[in-house]
Order: sequence, then C-alpha cells, then structure tokens
Amino acid sequence: MREILLATNNPGKAKEMFEILSSSASPLSTLIWWRFLSDFPTWPQPIEDGDTFEANAVLKAHHYARLSGLWTIADDSGLEVDALDGEPGVRSSRYAGDSADTVANNTLLVKRLAGVPAERRTARFRCVCVLSDGDNILARARGTIEGRIIDEPRGSKGFGYDPHFWVEQSGLTAAEMSPEQKHAISHRGQALRRLKDKLLELLRPEAVE
Ligand code: IMP
Repeated sequence: MREILLATNNPGKAKEMFEILSSSASPLSTLIWWRFLSDFPTWPQPIEDGDTFEANAVLKAHHYARLSGLWTIADDSGLEVDALDGEPGVRSSRYAGDSADTVANNTLLVKRLAGVPAERRTARFRCVCVLSDGDNILARARGTIEGRIIDEPRGSKGFGYDPHFWVEQSGLTAAEMSPEQKHAISHRGQALRRLKDKLLELLRPEAVE
C-alpha cells in the first residue's frame, strides 16, 4: 500500500477530499493509506504567495511532500465573483484579513455586493489539485462550478462561502446540499475525480507487484 498525504489544514477541505477520494466505488481504497496534516501538527505552513490557484497548489504540494517524504495531494481553491473583478480569488481564505474567520469573510463578501442586483452576482468556485513527490508534479487537475452569491445564508453543511453560494441547477446553496450532492458537481469533486484517474494510472504497476 502507498501512503499518500492529503495536505490541507482546513478541516472542511480535508473532509471533502477524503470523502471524494475514498468513495466506496473507488479502486483506490485497496491501494492507498491516506495520511492527514492533523497527524503532523508541528509542521510549518508554507507562505501561499502565488498569484494563481495553480501556483499555490504546486507550492503546497511540494512543501508538504518534502517535509513528509510522501506523495502529497494539495488543493488550492477559492471563489471568484464577477461583480468584484474576480475577488476574493486566491485570497478567499483570508479575504477579511490574514487571521479572518469564515463569518468575517462572508460578512465582507455580502457587504461588498450591497446594491448589486441578483443577475450580476454571478460567481464560481475553482479548484486546482496537484500530486507531488517532492521533486516533480506527478499529476494535476482542475474543476469549476458556477453559481450566484446571495445575501442571506442558507444551509448548515459544507464550509466557507457555501451558505452564500446558490447553484441554479439544483436550486440549493452548496451548504444545503448533502455531501454526495455537492461532490457530484463541485469544483473539488470534478478536480479530484480527474486526479484520481491519473493516480490510478500511476499506481497500476504497484497493484500488480
Ligand atoms: P485555500 O486553503 O487557500 O485553498 O482556501 C480556499 C478558501 O476558498 C477556503 O478557505 C474557502 O474560504 C474558499 N473555498 C474553497 N472551496 C470552497 C468550498 O467548496 N466551499 C466554500 N468555500 C470554499
């Protein structure tokens, strides 16, 4: 079995990454022993100073792969709001300040969109996932989901901006969806399923050893 580290300090993301990658239908479950950053609480975090989700995902994957000596998957993701010229973007987790929490970020988002009509509140979540062995990028994949920002939060599942992110095709916010519903259409679900296919290709030789 190969140990692979899921490198995120965000508990909401760690839960989703694990659920998507270890779904019961996945042949990966017999090949991989998943490890989490919560097992290594003393490791320093990298400075996420990339200008793109891609750059930050690569930076995090390499950082934790080098610290752990394990193949490592990192996800960088965030919200782009058209009426805010793509903000909060790569600053999604710290929109209201470096130590901002979810409530502060969501409050600022709603404030910045005050007076913007519903039809101009289009937005998307983007996700880039990267698998690193410490020296090389072994695989990378992307995903996107379109939605609209609403003022009043709805739902209590998910994390981050989910209660304000309304998805037309389901008529629900991401926080009103069950985990299965969200993963089936989310940016993270799309990116990780694509990464999973690439990972299976890489692990096929190990499976027959
Ligand atoms: P990262 O750890 O720098 O990738 O932070 C991503 C940030 O984007 C999170 O802290 C959330 O604020 C936001 N975000 C990313 N994906 C989601 C999602 O699926 N739901 C809600 N917020 C998300």
